[in-house]
Amino acid sequence: MIVNIDQKYINAIKFGEVVAFPTETVYGLGADAWNPEAIAKVFKTKGRPSDNPLIVHVADPSQINDFASSIPEAAQLLIEEFWPGPLTLVFNKRPEVLDAVTAGLNTVAIRMPSNEIALSLIANTNPLVAPSANKSGTPSPTKYTHVKADFDDSVLIINGGSTQVGLESTVLDVTGTEPMILRPGVIGKEDIERVLGQKISVDDSNSEQPKSPGQKYSHYKPKAEIQWLNSDHDLEDSSSLFLLLNTEFEQSNIINYDQDFDLLARELYDRFRQADIDGYKQVVIEPFDDRYESTIIPALLNRIEKATSL
Ligand code: AMP
Ligand code: MG
Repeated sequence: MIVNIDQKYINAIKFGEVVAFPTETVYGLGADAWNPEAIAKVFKTKGRPSDNPLIVHVADPSQINDFASSIPEAAQLLIEEFWPGPLTLVFNKRPEVLDAVTAGLNTVAIRMPSNEIALSLIANTNPLVAPSANKSGTPSPTKYTHVKADFDDSVLIINGGSTQVGLESTVLDVTGTEPMILRPGVIGKEDIERVLGQKISVDDSNSEQPKSPGQKYSHYKPKAEIQWLNSDHDLEDSSSLFLLLNTEFEQSNIINYDQDFDLLARELYDRFRQADIDGYKQVVIEPFDDRYESTIIPALLNRIEKATSL
């Protein structure tokens, strides 16, 4: 159960360096959450705007107490049900939490990942901030090779193969009377409502002052244009990669997902990146909606909508 982490990664974190590591969602660019110089390196390495706060990754729920000023009962219930796992909770912060982590907000986002490498690295060091380990603007990394492509040898990378979920965590604000989803993820609205026994809301504002600051940035974009399939598209067009839900066609530029939305989520960013490598001009995705019984659909729609927008 406990995986061994090469001492060089542990030392690097302790000396204030950044280390990229796998989580079950995407790879993270990790740095000690209590070291301002290390956090500055995360922003610099990624080219991340400084008004976009970071998620603190813990190895044990008790570590929340060092960052959050209080833990609402709803959060307790959700932690028992979903941690370790892809659910980030936003708490009111303690005054000691570094401004670089929260981008000056009075709240702090925390999650406990389930990936064993991530847990072991954190347990051997400190809680880590870990935004996605990509250059700002490129799709989030779901494979070691993606991190390597963005940073080459400039950061240490722990190879953990492909990530399981493939999309970033659900972000849930638990500071108000009614919890609010700030970013959809594989843990869905209904999953959370079932555990809490109450309705929750979803922040779908893309306003100038969104509750989840990261939402205003256009992430997840390859160079190829991302489009929803429509009647103008031609499957013979070899400059387009087609991601389809159900098709009989077998062609190198057509991937059939057979309505497996979990697989589509797991592979989406890799398809985006590989499309650029293969020289496709467009990635064309067959439209779908939440009629299908999969909790990841709102998250998938959110990421694809962001990628299709200009
Ligand atoms: P990333 O680490 O790139 O997956 O992005 C982290 C996400 O968490 C972004 O969408 C942030 O805006 C969001 N986030 C982090 N901290 C907070 C916070 N204190 N309040 C609201 N959203 C947050
Ligand atoms: Mg990111």
